[in-house]
Amino acid sequence: MLSFEQARQEVIAQVSKIKSRVATFDVSALDALGFVLAQDVKSDRDYPPFDRATRDGYAVRAAEAFDKSSLPCVGEIKAGDASGHPLAPGTCVQIMTGAPVPSGADAVVMIEHTRRDGDSVHFEQAVTRGQNVVPRGSEASQGKTLLHIGTRLGYAELGIAAQVGAMQLRCGKKPRVAILSTGDEIVAANATPGPFQIRNSNSVSLAAQVRIAGGEPVLLGNAADNIETLRKNIQRGLDEDVLVLSGGVSMGKYDLVEDVLKDLGMEFHFDAVAIRPGKPAVFGICRDKPVFGLPGNPVSTMVTFELFVVPAIDLLSGSTPRPLPLLRATLGESLKEKPGMTHFLPAKVEWSPAIANVKPLRWQGSGDTATMARANCFLVVGAETETLTAGESVNVLMRRDVN
Ligand code: AMP
Ligand code: MG
Repeated sequence: MLSFEQARQEVIAQVSKIKSRVATFDVSALDALGFVLAQDVKSDRDYPPFDRATRDGYAVRAAEAFDKSSLPCVGEIKAGDASGHPLAPGTCVQIMTGAPVPSGADAVVMIEHTRRDGDSVHFEQAVTRGQNVVPRGSEASQGKTLLHIGTRLGYAELGIAAQVGAMQLRCGKKPRVAILSTGDEIVAANATPGPFQIRNSNSVSLAAQVRIAGGEPVLLGNAADNIETLRKNIQRGLDEDVLVLSGGVSMGKYDLVEDVLKDLGMEFHFDAVAIRPGKPAVFGICRDKPVFGLPGNPVSTMVTFELFVVPAIDLLSGSTPRPLPLLRATLGESLKEKPGMTHFLPAKVEWSPAIANVKPLRWQGSGDTATMARANCFLVVGAETETLTAGESVNVLMRRDVN
């Protein structure tokens, strides 16, 4: 059986082979959060565009503004002003943060390190050349590529795009991810379930996970556990870029998803992974589309989506797969797990103040969504590990949405 790392690599290898070109379109930078760039963004001019003062104070020649010296102040430059005349030797000018430093000046003395007496400025500390001045072009020179094709746009990326005036960004369309729940016992989440029925929560949590991953969820509802219904709905799902199924991949008599996929010609790349929860997870390529059969227990569905579906969405968005958000944390209480499988246990990381401490939450297994909703991460217990002792440094898989 594949380890989760091997299974992830298999997804990445297979989805990388899918040749479909990512369709692109122009998006306003204000709406482009989470999209992947299909163009480079270059610097339209030098940044900063002039030698910029980074403090309120006095522009000086550093050699003239030593401790206990004084210089006459001959003017003022505020942010937005032209830098004006070159600084005459033996003088200083008052300058504000963000203003251009006049030629001749080579440092800015913070106002806090000066005393003003009429037109005379007394310096109370030495200043070094270059202090509090960011030279023109030192952040980026004109024409430099600041954002490359394939970059996922977050707030900092959108900030720099706006800075260089790139307010329309060519981006990859979000991959459309069909979500199909399966199970005779499942009813729509807005329906009233009978005594032995369960609301379809997986479609809702999966849609959220698809959005966080940068995909566009396409909700196909629930299919009953019979070959014909499954076949019809799976075929519909194959119209989209990715198909994610929940349920019907275990060993039960009515777990028919794999049979139907086989019948539709799917090439299977794995149908079990050495993880708990999530062992029966299935992945393959059917009609050139990646298909994931995730186990139906809600926490299994969540874990296996994060491990296997996210990298596929990244690749189909025109980006590289993001690494798993793993973190080292100090374990708060000892625990024992059966070795052989990598365990992903709902857990809570707390920071005190900057040190991550993690505690597994007591839970009833992979159907326990109430506990999952109190977790902000999964404690990862390696396949070869049987006991973990309080105080040990352990691996934690962070949730991407609530941290
Ligand atoms: P399965 O993987 O089909 O054997 O389902 C495993 C468990 O997950 C069963 O207890 C199901 O009732 C539950 N389950 C399956 N699908 C869903 C769903 N869409 N929403 C909530 N629970 C589900
Ligand atoms: Mg089922």
